[in-house]
Formats: sequence, C-alpha cells, structure tokens
Amino acid sequence: MGRIVVAGASLGGLRAAEQLRAAGHTGEIVVVGDEPHPPYNRPPLSKEALATEISLDRVAFRMRPSVADVAWHLGTPVVRADLAARTVHLADGTEIRYDGLVVATGLRPRRLDAPGTGPSRHVVRTLDDAAALRERLRPGVRAAVVGAGFIGCEVAATARTLGADVTVVAPEEQPMLRPLGARLGAELRRRHEGRGVRFLLGRTVARFTGTGLELSDGTQVAAEVVVEAVGSVPCVEWLDGNGLDLSDGVLCDGALRVEGRPEVVAVGDVARFPNPRYDDVPRRVEHWSMPTDTARHAARTLLGQDAGPFMPLPSFWSDQYDLRLQSFGAPGLGDDVRVLEGDLGGEAVVGYHRDGRLVGVVMLGAARRQAHYRGLLLDDARVPAS
Ligand SMILES: Cc1cc2nc3c(=O)[nH]c(=O)nc-3n(C[C@H](O)[C@H](O)[C@H](O)COP(=O)(O)OP(=O)(O)OC[C@H]3O[C@@H](n4cnc5c(N)ncnc54)[C@H](O)[C@@H]3O)c2cc1C
Repeated sequence: MGRIVVAGASLGGLRAAEQLRAAGHTGEIVVVGDEPHPPYNRPPLSKEALATEISLDRVAFRMRPSVADVAWHLGTPVVRADLAARTVHLADGTEIRYDGLVVATGLRPRRLDAPGTGPSRHVVRTLDDAAALRERLRPGVRAAVVGAGFIGCEVAATARTLGADVTVVAPEEQPMLRPLGARLGAELRRRHEGRGVRFLLGRTVARFTGTGLELSDGTQVAAEVVVEAVGSVPCVEWLDGNGLDLSDGVLCDGALRVEGRPEVVAVGDVARFPNPRYDDVPRRVEHWSMPTDTARHAARTLLGQDAGPFMPLPSFWSDQYDLRLQSFGAPGLGDDVRVLEGDLGGEAVVGYHRDGRLVGVVMLGAARRQAHYRGLLLDDARVPAS
C-alpha cells in the first residue's frame, strides 16, 4: 500500500502510525490533526496535571523511533473526505490523496444547551481547555460542575483539592450511574460529600444567570466558574456525504473496517464496532486502552493481514482524591450488581452480571486483585466459532 492518511493526531492517531509500521507498512504515513500540539495524554488533564501544572512537556507522548519519518500536519482540521476519489481536504486548502485512511478524530465535549450568559464556562478535553480552567481554580472560587460522569467527578475532586467550593449538578440520581450503577454511585457520592462537595442531583440547568445557574427546580447556584462535563460528540462531520453510518461515531465491522470501504478503518473513541466478547451490537468505547487495542487490529486490517477475531477487554481507571477506581470488562452491560470482595466503605471489588455471567468488575482500591479479576474476565471470552 502507498500513502496512508491518519485523520486525528491524538492517542489513536499515534498508535495507528506505530502499528502500521509494526505491521510492516513502509509507505508514506501522513497524520493530520486540528490541534496545534503533537499527541499528548488526556487523563492527567482532569487529575494530577489539573491539580499541579498543565504543560505539554508533562503530558506529551514519547515518539518512538518507528514513527520518526511520519509527516505530521498539525493545527489544521480535515474538513471533508471524498472516499470515492480517495482524497481528504484540509481547512488550509490542502488536498491529500490516500491509498488507505485511518479515522481517529475522537470526540469533542457536548455543550450545555441553556439560555442566558454564563459566568466563566469551561470544558475539559484538550490541553488548552485544561490550562484555561486551571487559571480559574483558585481557593474559595465557587465552581459548578455540570455532569456527574467520570470527567465531572474527577474535575470536582481536583477542584475541591485545590480549595474551590464545588457543587455538582446532574440529572441522574447518583454520580457515575451509567457505568457503575446506583450502589457504587452512592458510595462515590458519600466520599465526595465527605470532602465537602455539594450534589444537586435529579435536575438540569434551566439557564445561565450571569452569576451562576438556575436549575430546573428553580434552585439558584452561585458560581464564578462552570465546568460542562455533559458527555461528548464524535468528530465525524468531515465524513458526511459518503453514505456512511455516522449516527454515533463511525460504524465499523468486527475488523474495524468502515462498512463497505476496505481502504478505510477507524480507531479509538470514534470507532463503533461489535465486540463478540459480549454480543453483536456495535458500540463505541471511550476508554484510554481502546486506541491502542483498536490501532493494533485496524492496522493489520488495512494492510490486508488476517488479525483474527477482535474481542478486546475494555478497561478504564479513574482517580478521585486518594481513590483509584479500576474497571475491567463492560460493567454498564450488567444488570445484577454484587459486592464480590471487601466492603464498599473501604476497598472492594464489585461484580456486574448479565444473564448470570460476570461481564465486568469495578475495583475500589484493591489493586492486588486486579490480575485475578482481569484474568477471570479474559478466560470467559466467548470466542466465535469461525
Ligand atoms: C479529561 C479526560 C480524562 C480522561 N481520563 C481517562 C481515564 O482516567 N481513564 C480512561 O480510561 N480514559 C480516560 N479518558 C479517555 C481517553 O483519554 C480517550 O479514550 C482517548 O483520548 C481517546 O483517544 P482518541 O485518539 O481516540 O481520541 P481523542 O483523544 O479525542 O483524539 C482525537 C483527535 O482528533 C482531533 N480531530 C477532531 N476532528 C478533527 C478533524 N476534522 N481533523 C483533524 N483532527 C481532528 C481532535 O482534536 C483530537 O486531537 C479521559 C479523557 C479526557 C478528555
């Protein structure tokens, strides 16, 4: 294969370039990214880097020698792709022809759709987002975090640690309800409240008041800083007009090939693919482990190599105060939640079951049990017959 263009210059884009070289591709690789920075690590942006110092040096990924000859086209988005003509078009007018295309454009934060003018409104996805928020997080500042998913909870914990007065607003009844379930969510809430975070749950933002927020039940929340952590939107508009299913990321087959396009694959947060470990429903997985897992497989698919069945074991971690939450598998698919070890008030392992089968675990601390539970979930793989 000749030239491969990778759209998106973050973890997925970097891993795709590395894996293409590892799989033997000797042709040209061009990586296009809309951010001005070379690839960097996002998890610290809501955790230790936000708590201390935001700088590219601290979070940049190491460039392996295998990607030394990759051409990086940074600071310019791809605005359009013509898959029939095998071209991508950049905002600066550049047109690049490709023989293979890797879609690695990830996500951007969803914004609150509420009227009024805000106090200082923030999101946390990029290095520049985190730097802007860090500027505002001074002791005593009133920070309203809207959204109680993992980024909202992490930002709340970090802001509180920095001395901010933190209120979390979310429509769910418990924090991190969707990935963890109500029981673990309640325990997480207890830990946050123990540190002085206030939760206003079961309500949404009705409007920005200039000095804070008005909620759907009329509650007024005074805040100088609002952090919007209300989910993400896949960056796929540049693929419009090519007849692809872009309803939630890019629909791929089980080999990460974009449906109907043998010369296009997708990796990372933007890829929606079936995982036969669980079922045949295509899903996106927004975990740090996924760009690496998907890039390894997608590179081989793109180069026409048989990479075998793709059935990754998802994993994510979250740091909040001194608590490390570690998840393996797909807890969100389980409807029967049981404490397998320990107790929720201290260190514990929580199991998520579907139809009697363990499909995921979440560990509160309990680091020494990680290998055991990871192995258990891996062993239970339902390897497809073919
Ligand atoms: C604050 C934060 C904390 C996180 N913490 C954790 C954690 O603790 N544990 C965990 O498991 N996961 C965590 N994650 C998730 C993890 O970082 C992501 O899963 C990972 O970054 C996905 O990588 P990606 O390359 O697929 O997408 P992204 O990192 O989103 O990268 C996509 C890149 O493509 C660029 N792009 C978009 N559109 C275009 C275009 N049209 N043209 C060119 N470039 C474009 C984007 O600007 C971006 O640079 C966190 C994420 C964030 C934001």
